[in-house]
Amino acid sequence: MSIQKKRVKAKTVAIVGGGCAGWSLAARVDQLSANRVTLYLKEEPHTSHNWGFWQMPWLSEALSRKRAKWNSWQIITDEGIVTHRSINHAYCSISSDDWFDWCQQRFHSAATTTEVIKLPVTNTDKNILITSDHKKKYDSIYDSRPPMADKNILLQHFKGLEIKTSIPVFNSKVAVLMDFRVSQKNGIHFMYVLGYDAYTALVESTFFSTSPHREEVYDEAITDYLSRIYNVTSFEIIKSEKGIIPMGEVRPKDQNPFLYSIGSNAGAIRPSSGYAFSFIQKQIMQFLDRQTKPTTPHKKHDLMMDHIFLEVLKSHPEKAQRLFFKLARALDGDSFARFLSGEANIKDYFLVINSMPKWLFINQAVRVIIEKWKRIAKWA
Ligand SMILES: Cc1cc2nc3c(=O)[nH]c(=O)nc-3n(C[C@H](O)[C@H](O)[C@H](O)COP(=O)(O)OP(=O)(O)OC[C@H]3O[C@@H](n4cnc5c(N)ncnc54)[C@H](O)[C@@H]3O)c2cc1C
Repeated sequence: MSIQKKRVKAKTVAIVGGGCAGWSLAARVDQLSANRVTLYLKEEPHTSHNWGFWQMPWLSEALSRKRAKWNSWQIITDEGIVTHRSINHAYCSISSDDWFDWCQQRFHSAATTTEVIKLPVTNTDKNILITSDHKKKYDSIYDSRPPMADKNILLQHFKGLEIKTSIPVFNSKVAVLMDFRVSQKNGIHFMYVLGYDAYTALVESTFFSTSPHREEVYDEAITDYLSRIYNVTSFEIIKSEKGIIPMGEVRPKDQNPFLYSIGSNAGAIRPSSGYAFSFIQKQIMQFLDRQTKPTTPHKKHDLMMDHIFLEVLKSHPEKAQRLFFKLARALDGDSFARFLSGEANIKDYFLVINSMPKWLFINQAVRVIIEKWKRIAKWA
């Protein structure tokens, strides 16, 4: 059987949106087989943040521009601490400013003719360029504007502070990916701590729940955590970052069939973790290498497992930290990194499935399947 793949041979290309996906594609503009590429940006106040990812073969460019890397990381719960180590798949952090600088240099020095068009911030999603006129103007339009998500899905919402302390308290050798020793009264809640040196760290209060909180909730949680766990009561804030990431199915707001969605607009966010940077790079490389339309970078069975896992978290939030602890304890550093980067092998899947409480997941899997059937029946 031969699989026909649609080749995207374009002369003029537009990329809409200058976030992670838009700029990451713009950096590889010479691989688009285009004569001219236009990047449409929305004029917005400058914000910067960090992207964490595990070192993987498709991330060598990001790796060489990383701010820091950790060969060990921890998941901490009331039950205990799991420490993972990995030489091959270190946990890395890159600043969005550094990544965008690299992308911009590549875009502006490309052999392909490139231009940037800035759109005033008053433009809404409705009045932006994508009309039939643009369809005539461009052979391909890659759309990285943010997608829509269902109302009742879980959100990962967080605020992080990069801080400097006057006493040396942080461990720059071990990243803390999840520390559940925080109040759970406002939803599934953990701290994420990346120690850059003994005095400097990103400390992020992260929740999984269906709606975000007032800013004070994250601020108070960080202050309380630093004082209880690190004995730090005063610190200098260097910068802050915040975000709301959908943990579930999303779809493009603009469903025009001539648009190629990329990035989170094409489902690049891994639903169960909110990680997207690595998957966006994977997605872009895959479709450029294969000269096909962009598709989801996730495997179908990863999405199915995530769906079931998220349904379990939604119906049993009180079990969250136990589930993350069991999952982390069942894996070593390499398998954990592979699983969260969409590269799990059969043994990794076996370990993951085996670590989860069977009846809870079977019960939820049955519900998910019934839900799917109901939806199919409704459409039929
Ligand atoms: C603070 C923060 C920290 C994160 N940390 C991590 C992390 O550690 N690891 C990780 O893997 N992921 C992380 N993520 C998640 C993920 O990497 C990001 O959401 C990622 O930026 C998604 O890329 P994107 O290009 O799809 O969307 P975005 O980066 O959001 O880009 C969308 C772009 O579309 C533009 N836009 C919107 N409307 C219009 C319009 N009408 N016309 C033109 N342009 C428009 C916006 O200006 C924006 O530039 C983080 C997200 C945030 C917000």
